[in-house]
Amino acid sequence: MSIYQKYEPVIGLEIHLQLSTESKAFCADDAAFGGGPNTHVSAISLGHPGTLPRLNKKQVEYAVRLGLALGSKINMTNAFDRKNYFYTDLPKGYQITQDKLPVSVGGSLELRMEGYRRTVRIHHIHMEEDAGKSIHDIAPNHSLIDLNRAGVPLLEIVSEPDLRSAEEVDAFMTAMRQLARYLEISDGNMQEGSMRCDVNVSVRKKGDTRLGERCEIKNVNSMRYARQAIEFETKRQIDLLENGEEISRETLNFNPATGVTTPMRDKESAHDYRYFPDPDLPPVVLEDDWVDGIKGSLPALPQVLFEKFTHEYQLSDYDASLLTAEKSWALYFEAFVKHTQHFKAAANLTINKLMPSLGEASPLEDASITPGRMAAFVQLIEDGKVSASVAYQRLFPALMEQPEKEPLALAQSLNLLQTADTGFLEKIVDDVMASNPDKVKEFQNGKKGLIGFFMGEVMKASKGKAEPKTANELIAKKLAKQV
Ligand code: ADP
Ligand code: MG
Repeated sequence: MSIYQKYEPVIGLEIHLQLSTESKAFCADDAAFGGGPNTHVSAISLGHPGTLPRLNKKQVEYAVRLGLALGSKINMTNAFDRKNYFYTDLPKGYQITQDKLPVSVGGSLELRMEGYRRTVRIHHIHMEEDAGKSIHDIAPNHSLIDLNRAGVPLLEIVSEPDLRSAEEVDAFMTAMRQLARYLEISDGNMQEGSMRCDVNVSVRKKGDTRLGERCEIKNVNSMRYARQAIEFETKRQIDLLENGEEISRETLNFNPATGVTTPMRDKESAHDYRYFPDPDLPPVVLEDDWVDGIKGSLPALPQVLFEKFTHEYQLSDYDASLLTAEKSWALYFEAFVKHTQHFKAAANLTINKLMPSLGEASPLEDASITPGRMAAFVQLIEDGKVSASVAYQRLFPALMEQPEKEPLALAQSLNLLQTADTGFLEKIVDDVMASNPDKVKEFQNGKKGLIGFFMGEVMKASKGKAEPKTANELIAKKLAKQV
């Protein structure tokens, strides 16, 4: 056993989620991603003296939504603090965040891993604002600053150190993104920075219950980097311990170009933020009715739908994961199975034809084919009116182009219905036998498995229209006759 296998990584995440509110956290500036540099700003986000923040109610609503979905306890009184540090992307000289009284505490998220489940406890969720963006790689001798992002509302979700591998981290991030999208509080887009995380990593010998000293890797903005950073950091720490050295608590940067973590030297390593309650913002006092209203309006959650799809509809874990990955897909599928009991066929059709035809992540509610027509389509196959391959390869594309048509009528007009008409089939069987005299002989000499070959040829010649049972009987009869 290699030394590395004697250890396990212990990981806790601090996920930053950018909320999809229209305006910023404490002023009316546009909170949308993009825009020309420094166009989504005002005296407030520029940190001019004398300006006052005003809380965006949507931010609180979104925070409560996530807290409730994770089973957290909502702090009916929560409060904002100032986190003080100096940096050019922070014109006020402090970030408004929540330190002592965050919006919610506790809760958990369950991950489905290969062959086991992992429950990750949430320590707390707090509200805060984002900083601006320093740009060092455009002008050769200058640093540039874009304050569009300054003041955009964020949630920070802090997990307990319950993750044990890079795969679990990936699953956790994916599940959190999925949940945020279901709740419509964030698009969770990592490329645009709507979701990023700080990864806290320590290692310990397997079986140990005590936590080791940890390092924090800041601002990881892709799943792949998270995985690489964890793998590198785990090995680095194990090597140190095996050399009899100690891990020192550090804040690290991960460099994707080199795959290496290195200690940071800027603001983040100075941990003297001098938090104190923001005197400009009174405590946030929530009303029971308001929170109950949010609770009542939560959508069906991905985990619940997954259980329903696997138990009630008997779908595989794989199918259920795909169908519940996006809320619009799950809702479409729910509408679909209101019209049919053929759950597996419905899942296949949705996954293999409908979803790819719409392109990745486009909402299925935009699908032009109604769930009712999708069900009628499945029924055509189930009733043997159209063969599965003809239905998939020819009827479905036609339906995509003419979604207003009923599948049966469309199949008729395209001449795709299967036929048990023996006159039609007999001619095809005769032709197939005539052009394969050798195979006919082999069959008659006892190679009965060749019946499959003849079926295939008849299907091909009939362009998939031969009704299989009738065709099979006919072939068997004709081959036998010639003995
Ligand atoms: P701080 O207040 O210094 O940021 P916290 O105790 O709040 O530290 O933890 C921050 C994050 O670090 C959490 O996600 C937590 O799960 C994680 N964490 C804490 N201790 C460890 C550890 N020994 N190993 C790995 N992660 C840890
Ligand atoms: Mg922290």
